[in-house]
Amino acid sequence: MTAPASPGPPRLVEVALPLPLLRTFTYAAPDAPRHPLVPGSRVVVPVRQRRAIGICVGESDGAALGDIRPKAILDVPDAEPALAPDLLALCRWIADYHVVPLGLVCRAVLPAALGVAARPAPAGRTERLLVLARELPTLLERDAAFKRAPQQRQLYELLEQLGGRAPVKLLLERLGCTMAVVDGLERRGLARSEQEGRDRDPFASRPAPAAPPLVPSPAQQAAIDAILAGAPGAAFLLHGITGSGKTLVYLRVLEQVVRREGRSAIVLVPEIALTPQAVDRFRAVFGDQVAVLHSGLSDGERLDAWRALRRGDKRIAVGARSAIFAPLADLGAIIVDEEHEASYKQAETPRYHARDVALMRARETGARCVLGSATPSLESWRNAEEGRLARLTLGERAGGGALPAVRVLDLRQELTASTPDEKARRQVLSAPLEALLRDRLAKGEQSILLLNRRGYASFVQCPAGHVASCPDCSISLTYHRTPERLVCHYCQHTEPALKACVECGATMERQRGLGTQQVERLVLERLPQARVARMDVDTTTGKWAHTTILDRVGRGEVDILLGTQMIAKGLDFPNVTLVGVIDADIGINLPDFRASERTFQLLSQVAGRAGRGPKGGEVVIQTRVPGHHAVRHAAAHDFLAFVREELAAREHPPYPPTLRLANVVVSGLDERAVAAFAAQVTDWLIAADTRFGLGVTVLGPAPCPIERIKTRFRWHAILKSGAPAPLTRLLRGLMTGVDVPAAHEMRLVVDRDPVSLL
Ligand code: ADP
Ligand code: ZN
Repeated sequence: MTAPASPGPPRLVEVALPLPLLRTFTYAAPDAPRHPLVPGSRVVVPVRQRRAIGICVGESDGAALGDIRPKAILDVPDAEPALAPDLLALCRWIADYHVVPLGLVCRAVLPAALGVAARPAPAGRTERLLVLARELPTLLERDAAFKRAPQQRQLYELLEQLGGRAPVKLLLERLGCTMAVVDGLERRGLARSEQEGRDRDPFASRPAPAAPPLVPSPAQQAAIDAILAGAPGAAFLLHGITGSGKTLVYLRVLEQVVRREGRSAIVLVPEIALTPQAVDRFRAVFGDQVAVLHSGLSDGERLDAWRALRRGDKRIAVGARSAIFAPLADLGAIIVDEEHEASYKQAETPRYHARDVALMRARETGARCVLGSATPSLESWRNAEEGRLARLTLGERAGGGALPAVRVLDLRQELTASTPDEKARRQVLSAPLEALLRDRLAKGEQSILLLNRRGYASFVQCPAGHVASCPDCSISLTYHRTPERLVCHYCQHTEPALKACVECGATMERQRGLGTQQVERLVLERLPQARVARMDVDTTTGKWAHTTILDRVGRGEVDILLGTQMIAKGLDFPNVTLVGVIDADIGINLPDFRASERTFQLLSQVAGRAGRGPKGGEVVIQTRVPGHHAVRHAAAHDFLAFVREELAAREHPPYPPTLRLANVVVSGLDERAVAAFAAQVTDWLIAADTRFGLGVTVLGPAPCPIERIKTRFRWHAILKSGAPAPLTRLLRGLMTGVDVPAAHEMRLVVDRDPVSLL
């Protein structure tokens, strides 16, 4: 082994780069890499004239090179691969299934600070803060403490004036002193410094609450036992009504897996900012073991959390959808709370669904997977029926409370009001709902008002509640202005707009939906003494605005919380005794085959917010279609009846879970060019489907219900298939076989298993 080997052909590897090309790139390994070059390693490579960071994904036979000489990898910067084998395999699966470049998936999976992202880590996001650590309440103590350190006293007192917490830089500037003074104060334990992003992370400063010692009910215990007895990789659907104590089941499973078996776990929650209470419960039990991954973290903080998980310093990752990629070894459990939530689907490339990734990762690693919900998605329900998920049920509220009574309030009856103004007002705030709000105000109890607003697609409805819908697709028609018409955006069936209602002859009216501000104004007009807090995208631009508003509700500083669907999630406020849904029809009539399901989920969830305390509660749903199954069954808290009816409706015409769907969206700056390219794409899909005999149904092209987003025009085609494989084949063909025109910033995007077709 001493003779130098003659230089053979270089070792070639495939590298995934975050470029919009559906392929990987071949590079030559360096002769003596700084660190081992293995699948999952980060590599620095030349791309055109620049350097880029990519991921080595395996050895290469050089076939893709042809006559081109491979460029050499410039560096292997890390001692350990950034992606462990199980995560790299997961990336590959996502890239194949969603037909996106592997490099873009790796970028989404790794923290931005690792540089696979094109953008550099933002500088200066964190700063050093000085925090008061010990109080010196009496003058005597103060004189004694600072006898020989007058500058420290100045610093201490300035910090006090500033509320006990201030940036070091600011303190130094104000006092004109040196770092030595800061260090002195710290050394004596009177202050400590913290590294912190400009946005305060409430989970870092929020004290972990004490865990109440709860004894599982027999139903909870049965669920816990079943999950723990599951084989490696087993998956469960925990169907538990709101307030049934699903969290305790999760906690007990984690105690076994993490505490006793010494393994690790992931807990997914829909949106951290909206569920501080849920996150608190995990921190209460596991304290420092928990890494809370949320969108408020700076890139640096996120990298720190990633490293802590990677090293095993923290063994539970709690977070929204991207936490499913937490770099934990030896996974023992993956929990997906509120598994039906649409926010688990990423809205941009790669459009993965965290619930599906969770099932896949659990299967690959042997972790037990628990999907929990009061209103499971129809996909998961079907999976349970067909035995792919084991179903566990919690049918009673933990602690014995009852589900609140729900009253369905027919808005058509409010049309008897005397003046047009009053009529309009009572379509928003009916007389009975107003009376109930007054009653709660008088009793010092709290109310929640929900205005369901989702997307901006508008539909037409007659005063009797009938809605124009497509004869073939059972989807409400979308109103389009130019030219004025109604369009089914599934099949492009078109009708003239605003004609008479086919069922009752009354004039159809365009429904544009109300704004939360309008509702707020109206409520304040009628109930000027009420303290109203509004929670919607406008009032929650700051990262912790949600938490701030919810904390105010929790402290009793708000009488009426008014908001969009963001208020429906996981809240647990015992003093909320009234929940009002302003207009259930807005959700029901969205041009989306999931409109009924989403409405049912939302109504059930929001109804679950009432009556959590001993005072009980009441729910009012305002609607013009009281007979709709989403309304009827939500009012009766009858998930099974809803599912039976809705699953049957998804057979004819067929929609998921009866079949698989993909949405192919074309967008660009020029309307005519977009429509033309959409037609070309559709023709290609139909021809290719015939050529390969795939049996995929291609519908469209049609304008998207939201025709234009941020100056881009949008058209789409919908693909339906009985099985996933033909769809994969067709979509892969499309993304590699059709050239996207260079003009008009044209884009072609595939959304597989879409959660919304807006
Ligand atoms: P879910 O997530 O199913 O809606 P939670 O986990 O939030 O329900 O539990 C609802 C409430 O019931 C919480 O306040 C919780 O502390 C309480 N709870 C849960 N399990 C028990 C139990 N075994 N005994 C008493 N109270 C319980
Ligand atoms: Zn149609």
